[in-house]
Amino acid sequence: MTILKITKTLLIAFCVLNFNFFSIVNNSEANEKVTVVATTGMIADAVYNVGGDMVELKVLMGAGVDPHAYRQTRTDIIAMANADLVLWNGLYLEAQMEEFLLELGLDNNVVAVAEKIPGNLLIGSEDYEGRYDPHLWMNPNLWSRVVLNVRDALINVKPSAADEFRANANNYLDKVSELVRYANKVLSSVPAENRILLTSHDAFNYFGNAYGFEVIGIQGISTESEAGLQRISILVDMLIERNVKAVFIETSVSDRNIRALVEGAQAAGHEVIIGGELFSDAMGEPNTYKGTYIGMIDSNATSISLALGGNAPKKGMLNNL
Ligand SMILES: [Zn+2]
Repeated sequence: MTILKITKTLLIAFCVLNFNFFSIVNNSEANEKVTVVATTGMIADAVYNVGGDMVELKVLMGAGVDPHAYRQTRTDIIAMANADLVLWNGLYLEAQMEEFLLELGLDNNVVAVAEKIPGNLLIGSEDYEGRYDPHLWMNPNLWSRVVLNVRDALINVKPSAADEFRANANNYLDKVSELVRYANKVLSSVPAENRILLTSHDAFNYFGNAYGFEVIGIQGISTESEAGLQRISILVDMLIERNVKAVFIETSVSDRNIRALVEGAQAAGHEVIIGGELFSDAMGEPNTYKGTYIGMIDSNATSISLALGGNAPKKGMLNNL
């Protein structure tokens, strides 16, 4: 009788302990955040919006950082090796990190989010034969597909949160659709003859395709090549011939070449202004509106429209600029 009682008690105790043990494991799995490292701010912004507080996020390249030239630091390597998920753009944007990321991907969960976009939607690279132009965040419609790739990568790591990731992604993409409508509206107000976008490097080809602008970069697609004096002088002639009134600097590229261009045009008697500072390969400062993807594109579309003779609210889509 006593032995039976003891056995029964032990059995119950075991069951309770067992139950607690498993519920603790389940809870900790459910509560555990997915650790994600993203190379660019634009990708990190997508992770932040889709992952919410289920994600612990580290971004490698902050405001004003040039991704073509960025090389991973020792701290970056440790963070990436320990993360549940590493997301990078790919298409040779992170040129100096590509070899490292490909190798890391052999044993880790590493996803090049832009490389999953079908090739027929991409623009060929002018600099590198057989490669694509990596700057596809400049077209918010195309970027929406990248957001879905980010969502799928998160679901893959944490399937238990799939519903939340899906709902967050849908909410966020609604806001991106609003941005698409705004950009269409303010950019289509620019007179056809003014639709020339001259910037430091070729980051705006997707933008040009989406909104009907001719895009000219002083440097090629990557920022690695230095623009020669000859190129500057050819562009000065073009500015005069086509009566271009404004050119643009970029936050992540030196403005030296653009200033040389403006001075060259002035010396030849043609007045050109710097139409504004565009966000090309990096967003603005963290915790500011321009430090978000939507703020970045809103700011670009608004600046370009206003500088080239279009109509746009000075403070942008949400009165936040
Ligand atoms: Zn670039």
